[in-house]
Amino acid sequence: MTANTLFWIIVSIIIIDFLVDKILDALNAKHYNDPVPDSLKDVFDEQEYEKSQRYKKSNYKFGMVSSTFSVVVLLLFLFLDGFDFADTLARSVSDNAILIALIFFGIIMLGSDLLSLPFSWYHTFVIEEKFGFNKTTPRTFILDKLKGWGMLIVLGGGILALIVWFYQFAGDSFWWYAWILVAAFSIFLNMFYARLIVPLFNKQTPLSEGSLRNKIEAYAQKEGFTLEKIFVIDSSKRSTKANAYFSGFGSEKRVTLYDTLITDLQDEEIVAVLAHEVGHYKKNHIIINMVISILSTGFTLWILSLFVGNPLLSEALGVENPGFHIGLVAFGILYSPISELTGIIMNYLSRKFEYQADNFAKQTYKAQPLISGLKKLSKNSLSNLTPHPAYVFVHYSHPPLYKRFRNLER
Ligand SMILES: [Zn+2]
Repeated sequence: MTANTLFWIIVSIIIIDFLVDKILDALNAKHYNDPVPDSLKDVFDEQEYEKSQRYKKSNYKFGMVSSTFSVVVLLLFLFLDGFDFADTLARSVSDNAILIALIFFGIIMLGSDLLSLPFSWYHTFVIEEKFGFNKTTPRTFILDKLKGWGMLIVLGGGILALIVWFYQFAGDSFWWYAWILVAAFSIFLNMFYARLIVPLFNKQTPLSEGSLRNKIEAYAQKEGFTLEKIFVIDSSKRSTKANAYFSGFGSEKRVTLYDTLITDLQDEEIVAVLAHEVGHYKKNHIIINMVISILSTGFTLWILSLFVGNPLLSEALGVENPGFHIGLVAFGILYSPISELTGIIMNYLSRKFEYQADNFAKQTYKAQPLISGLKKLSKNSLSNLTPHPAYVFVHYSHPPLYKRFRNLER
C-alpha cells in the first residue's frame, strides 16, 4: 500500500463516520414530533412538552453546526499538512522523543480546545441558559476549563510520557507495559475518583441526619449492604439537571447524590433511584464494565503495537520523520470504526444492565417510586420521549424511558 492510498483511507473514514453520525441525528430528529407513548403522557403538560421539543431542536441544530465545523477543520488540517507543522514545531524545541510527543499533543489539544471553546460557551450560556438549565457562572466555566487543562497535563501528559518511554526501551512489546499502566491507573482512578478528582470541581458533604438518611440506611440494612458513605454534591452550581452515582470498591465505596436530586425528588423516589444503583453494585456491573474496558484496552494496544512502527503511517499524514506520536494519531483514526463498534456493544450491554438494576430496585424496594422518580428526572432534563430505535441502538447507554417503564410495570 502507498502512503497516498492510506491518506485517502483516513480521509474516507473521517467522512463516512461523520455522515453516518449525521444521518442518525437526522433520523432521530424526524421523530421529535411523534405522539408520546400513552404510558408517558403524564411526564409533561402541553406547554412543557412544547418547550422540550424546542430544546431538542436547538440541540440538534447546534450539534449539526459544531460537528460540521470540527470535521471541516480536521480535514483542512489533514490536507494542509497540519500534523507536519505541529511535528516540525515540536522538533524545533527538543530532540527528545518524549518531549516531542508531549509538545506535539500539547499543540494539537490546545488548538482543538480553543476552537471548540466558543461552541461550549454558546451551549452553556445560550442554549442551556435559554431553557433554564444553566447555573454556571462565567467564572466557574473558566475555572473548570483551567482545572481540566491542569488535569490533562498532569495525568494525560504523565501517561503519554511513560508510554513513549516504554516504546523506547521495549520496542513493539511496549504494549504490555502500557496495558499494565493504563489498567492500574483506571482501577486507581475508579477507586479514588471521589476523593481526588471530585473535590477539584465540587463540594461534597455527608448527607445530613434526617428522614432521607434514615430511609436510605433502613433500605441498605435490609439488603445487608454496608453503605456508610452517602455524600451530597453541589451540582446545582452548574446545572439544574439531577443525578446520582456509585463509585469505588470495598471501603472506598460511596454513593453520591446531586443536591438537585434531593430538591426535585421525594424521599421514596430517591431511595428507589439508590436501590437501582445498589443493583448495579450487587450484580457486579461495575466490576464487569471495568474488566471489559481493561481487556479492550489491551486489545487496542496490541493492535497499535503491530502498526505504530510502520513509517507508512507518518508518511500518510504528510510527516517527514516517522515518530511514535504521529503513528498514534494515524492509528487513532484508522482504528475508529472498530472503537465505534465496541462502543455500540458496550451500550447494548449497558442497557441490559440498566434493566437488571431496575429489576433489582423493583424486587428489593418498589417499582412505583422508581417510575415516578425517572419521570421527574426526564421531565426536568426535557429529555426525548420518542427517540428513534437506530439512534438508541448506537448512542443510548440507558434504555428509553417508555421501555424502562414497560419493564418496571411488568
Ligand atoms: Zn443505572
